[in-house]
Amino acid sequence: MFVAFVGPGRHDPPPLVNPLIRCIPPFLVRFFARPYVAGDSLVKAMAAVDKLWRDRGLLSTLDLLAEDIHEEAQAQRNLQTYLDMADAVAASGLPAEARPTLSLKPSSYTTRPLQDGGDAAGSMAAMSAIAERARQRGVGLTIDMESRHWTDFTLQALRELHAAGHRDIGCVLQTRLHRTEQDLVALPAGIRVRLVIGIYREPAEVALTDKPAMKARMLQFAETLLRRGHYVEFASHDDTWVRRFVEEVVPKTGVGKDRFEVQMLYGVPRDRFLAELRRQGVRARLYVPFALSWAMAIQYLRRRLDEYPAMMWLVTKNLVSRR
Ligand SMILES: Cc1cc2nc3c(=O)[nH]c(=O)nc-3n(C[C@H](O)[C@H](O)[C@H](O)COP(=O)(O)OP(=O)(O)OC[C@H]3O[C@@H](n4cnc5c(N)ncnc54)[C@H](O)[C@@H]3O)c2cc1C
Repeated sequence: MFVAFVGPGRHDPPPLVNPLIRCIPPFLVRFFARPYVAGDSLVKAMAAVDKLWRDRGLLSTLDLLAEDIHEEAQAQRNLQTYLDMADAVAASGLPAEARPTLSLKPSSYTTRPLQDGGDAAGSMAAMSAIAERARQRGVGLTIDMESRHWTDFTLQALRELHAAGHRDIGCVLQTRLHRTEQDLVALPAGIRVRLVIGIYREPAEVALTDKPAMKARMLQFAETLLRRGHYVEFASHDDTWVRRFVEEVVPKTGVGKDRFEVQMLYGVPRDRFLAELRRQGVRARLYVPFALSWAMAIQYLRRRLDEYPAMMWLVTKNLVSRR
């Protein structure tokens, strides 16, 4: 799907599996992508975030679509954009409780990605700089979780940032990975955790391959995290499982509505369900990706189409039925 954090490899991506995808003209890719990308500039993304809050009471987390880091200059541009994002959020005039957080991917700041045998040089330094700016500006940060090659690195980065005094930093745990059960009990106390099934296809030796089982783990892990005092961000578009989280898991743990939220992707048609959650007083946040140009977004989205050709059908269906 048009998921901003998907995408193995930001470097020398494999050739498109489906050569037909290459033939889809940019205007058509853009047509399919439109609902999922908040624009081709930070200004447009901030306008989208503002509208979500003012019109629908929805919170946001901002993400820059930043792939294929071949040159140091691209890594530096991504870093600079995140610093600008922290500044823009602080200057937005939104009330503190409505300020978007920033979601970032460690692979956006290195020309030496771990999945290609690299050492992620530059990534930790960039994240530290962003964390520092975010702290100065009072902006929350979440480190997205990428493929299994990045799990150790990302959790270590989280621990280091936490040890350096950064407190408004959250992480993502993928329930498909077998290791997650151990990872969640080793997290820094009380940090924010976004729970997802995980978008990366991982081998059966390290991960579940059955979706319902991954979702059942979402409930199980959410309960453990809430009981351990973490703020839980339950990220899923599956109404059934989101309802089970809100109506079964949360009451069982006895935590208040200030200890969790539900998250979905910008553009995925869940308007009515989100409104229902808001009426119940449940916090809801959208993951809002933007690009610095449509060319960048289209390159990224073409790859997503290549990975999930079914999304063209899904998007068409979604355009006619909003729920
Ligand atoms: C806010 C947020 C942040 C995330 N961060 C990460 C991360 O850091 N790392 C990571 O590995 N994964 C991340 N994910 C992705 C997550 O791991 C899942 O792959 C994704 O959410 C799909 O799983 P689902 O629970 O929505 O269930 P699914 O069964 O996949 O989806 C339920 C239904 O929702 C609809 N749907 C789902 N996705 C889309 C879409 N893109 N477009 C249109 N309809 C759709 C479909 O109709 C589908 O039948 C994130 C997801 C969200 C919502």
